[in-house]
Amino acid sequence: MGTQVINPATEALLLDLEDYSAEDVDRIISRARAVYDSGVWSAQSVAARQTVLHQIADMVDAHVAELAQLETSNVGLPISQTSGMHVSRAALNFRFFSDYIGQAEGQLYEQNPDYLTMVTRHSVGVAALIAPWNAPLALGAMKIAAAIAFGNSAVIKPSEQAPLTLTRFVELLGKTDLPKDVVQIVNGRGSTTGAALVSHPGVDRISFTGGTETGRVIMGAAAQTLTPVTMELGGKSANIIFADCDFDRALDGALASIYAGNGQQCLAGSRILVEESIAPRFIDAFVARAANIKVGDPMLKDTQMGPVASKAQYVRIQDYLQSALSDGAKHLTGGARPDGLDQGYYLSPVAIQTDDPGARICQEEVFGPFATLLTFKSEEEAYQIANNTTFGLVSYVWSQDLGRIMRAQNALASGVVWVNTPMTRELRAPFGGIKESGIGAEGGHACAAFYAQQKTVTIPLTDVPLPKLGA
Ligand code: NAD
Repeated sequence: MGTQVINPATEALLLDLEDYSAEDVDRIISRARAVYDSGVWSAQSVAARQTVLHQIADMVDAHVAELAQLETSNVGLPISQTSGMHVSRAALNFRFFSDYIGQAEGQLYEQNPDYLTMVTRHSVGVAALIAPWNAPLALGAMKIAAAIAFGNSAVIKPSEQAPLTLTRFVELLGKTDLPKDVVQIVNGRGSTTGAALVSHPGVDRISFTGGTETGRVIMGAAAQTLTPVTMELGGKSANIIFADCDFDRALDGALASIYAGNGQQCLAGSRILVEESIAPRFIDAFVARAANIKVGDPMLKDTQMGPVASKAQYVRIQDYLQSALSDGAKHLTGGARPDGLDQGYYLSPVAIQTDDPGARICQEEVFGPFATLLTFKSEEEAYQIANNTTFGLVSYVWSQDLGRIMRAQNALASGVVWVNTPMTRELRAPFGGIKESGIGAEGGHACAAFYAQQKTVTIPLTDVPLPKLGA
């Protein structure tokens, strides 16, 4: 049994993907362990690792066109986004972690004059890395870069739906000086290959990005081996538009945060909360722009939104639209198949309006180009609606009032707050969710804490008297 990997723009079969079996996974983890224990990578100097990480980044840059085409054909993201952002992000991740390990600082304690205590940092072994289908290369590369920068071996499992770019990337690593088997790939479905990977006792860290329900299953497996995990999970992020915002920038930002990446982004600002006094004008402008987004062949440079990634996603989005309308929401725009796009999982960007923040459409992640608009009267009401969810990944705030911005960033229950910007990733800072959006985070210090083990070493500086038991 395997998975049919489909091009969502044409519905053509790209690949029949066979699952790696539990035996395959076991063999690959043994190889990862052997290369780790050999020290050929784990015992290298930081400078030597930095050289290779930069080589990997350069290799990615040299293959932008190929990798972007593969990504677009597999997941339907517009080529302008895969070539302009996703592939270069993958390269940036390696450069970032290369630079980061060169800046490592240690801890040394000498408050007690009789002892010197230092904290050393060590790689941990084999990291199992599990990626979703929405941005396979960019998200997978972040995990690989972080895991190997700190000296570990890595086994990456792409989504069975979107294995093409990560498979090619791992193949291309053969062109660099990264020792063989430091990064390996296992392909297959989550319930088979993925389950074998996360329950394997030879795995020392599990880094997962995907859905919240899958996260629960993986944590269950990790509990058996007490393997540390990071979980980058789903979201239902609020985008709060205050009346004192820069209207045009807030409009651009609101559209980008829900419809970029074909709306299939964990960080999507999928609940747009608009202050009542500007709501009619803002919502009208939003709907007009949404309806004007250029949906089409993702291989064309001027396409702004491609097809959604799979038939299952297509059906799911339609179901959410029907269910929201039968719950009393107002249909503002979208959901239909655009003219001339008879094949492929194409739909026009959806927007609905509801006055019930507890409605299913305000609580569940659609993971598609689906905006839900609500209005609010007061600042307190905005925060209350924003926080009324089991998720807590990102919040967006648009306002020109510094006092309000400071109150908002304090009040909002999410791992990230973006103020007057749709999305700005600072790799030094942690990116991760709270509540059911995740555990742990990715970023410089966060990855150092996860992919390296600290050890406290204490040494006496004098002949400190010792107990004389039995003397
Ligand atoms: P998913 O949970 O279905 O699958 C993610 C990965 O987990 C896939 O590789 C899958 O094969 C694997 N998997 C599934 N069951 C498994 C198991 N039992 N053991 C091991 N591995 C298993 O998610 P998806 O549909 O690929 O991605 C969409 C979800 O990812 C959305 O909820 C989205 O919000 C989330 N996401 C989160 C972030 C973040 O940084 N927080 C980023 C991107 C996507």
